[in-house]
Amino acid sequence: MVETPWDETLDRARRVAGEWLASLPDRPVGRPVEDGVHLDEQLPTRGSPAPEVLDALAADLGPGLVATPGPRYFGFVTGGSLPVALGADWMAAAVDQNVAARVMSPAMAAVEEVTGRWVCDLLGLPPASAVGFVTGAQMANVVGLAAARHTLLAAAGWDVGTDGLAGAPVPTVLVGEQVHSTILRSLRLLGLGSGRAVRVAADDQGRMRPDVLRDLLAAIDGPVLVCAQAGQVDTGASDPLDAIAEVVGEREQRWLHVDGAFGLWAAATPARRHLVAGAGLADSWTVDAHKWLNVPYDCGMAIVRDPAALTAAMGMSAAYLPMGSADPSSRVPESSRRARVLPVHAALRHLGREGVADLVERCCALARQAADELARHPGIEVLNDVVLNQVLFRPRAGDARELAAAVARDGTCWVGTTVWQGRPAVRLSVSNWSTTPEDIRRSTAAITRLL
Ligand SMILES: *Cc1c(COP(=O)(O)O)cnc(C)c1O
Repeated sequence: MVETPWDETLDRARRVAGEWLASLPDRPVGRPVEDGVHLDEQLPTRGSPAPEVLDALAADLGPGLVATPGPRYFGFVTGGSLPVALGADWMAAAVDQNVAARVMSPAMAAVEEVTGRWVCDLLGLPPASAVGFVTGAQMANVVGLAAARHTLLAAAGWDVGTDGLAGAPVPTVLVGEQVHSTILRSLRLLGLGSGRAVRVAADDQGRMRPDVLRDLLAAIDGPVLVCAQAGQVDTGASDPLDAIAEVVGEREQRWLHVDGAFGLWAAATPARRHLVAGAGLADSWTVDAHKWLNVPYDCGMAIVRDPAALTAAMGMSAAYLPMGSADPSSRVPESSRRARVLPVHAALRHLGREGVADLVERCCALARQAADELARHPGIEVLNDVVLNQVLFRPRAGDARELAAAVARDGTCWVGTTVWQGRPAVRLSVSNWSTTPEDIRRSTAAITRLL
């Protein structure tokens, strides 16, 4: 195989990527899952020139690509990519640094340190916290809860790292009734058992009730791990973190984790900071970068107040790989990994404190606009207090799932569904820097037309 010089290959990648990005505002947003794409299933015997491979990939994949980075994709909580973050992501691939150990990339180790401090600063978290750059909020939850497990068991005289969980004085885990499924998977992975978790009742916006938590805690002996949430995926509501921190703080041997995948970004804007007041009192936090900070997938942050607790749970070393707590891999479950921090750093440098606040505020204002436009239609009931970037609604007559399916077929925008208080509902999340008021207007017009 004759190698094509870098320039030609990268120019082709640039062109193919540019065509995709330029198509985002106008292409139908969703794609029917059944259609899929048709790839040649034969492994080629002879290879093809690199630029040709890229062209062929673009042609093959096009029919199955969803405009998730575009301005009218409102499914799940899906950010887009800021141009600066995409550029930095390409740079991360080009410099191809392994961020496992400081000695492998002093540059990226430094970027992780500085960026971690910036994130804590923006989110109002203790400045000396340790930050691990992981694939997303799922792994951030695993890491936070692993630090909790290690610390709580160590305080009970049990070294879970060495001795495992069999026979251990396992802490009692409490989660909100509206806990995110990734917390439950984290409990499964860590041997804490999702079914053992005590569910704490929530209010009508999905917020954990601190009075119920207090009563439950009063009846539990021994160490407790409480998993609270900033930003419920349907309503955007945050648990009352200050009250929860106060209740949890009354105990010895306790750990408070906050899953703030997207909701913790409320702390980055003075106008919404009150929604997550008290977040800084927790012991560990989860936050996504690939959702609301609008960096490309895959990036989230596991933040732990006590750096020693994090490295005790995550650290590793070997004779050939002398690593200590200063090495980035002591903060995450991975060994070798790419510099996923670079797009985060670039995005924050580009936006600055004001730009992050503006990004969050703009999305919230657009969600408010969407809710107002939808609520004006007599056939729609908006179900949540639109305090953040999530709008939850349902048709007064007819089926929420059918409405979402019709919206997907129409192609103007894409919205997801959920079950809220026992009945299907539609959820609309505004999390993309490129969405405009006109995008919202077009989208709510399409939704109401399809009722
Ligand atoms: C999205 C989300 C997660 C999972 O995040 P990933 O980045 O997909 O792993 C966890 N918790 C909450 C509250 C979320 O919104």
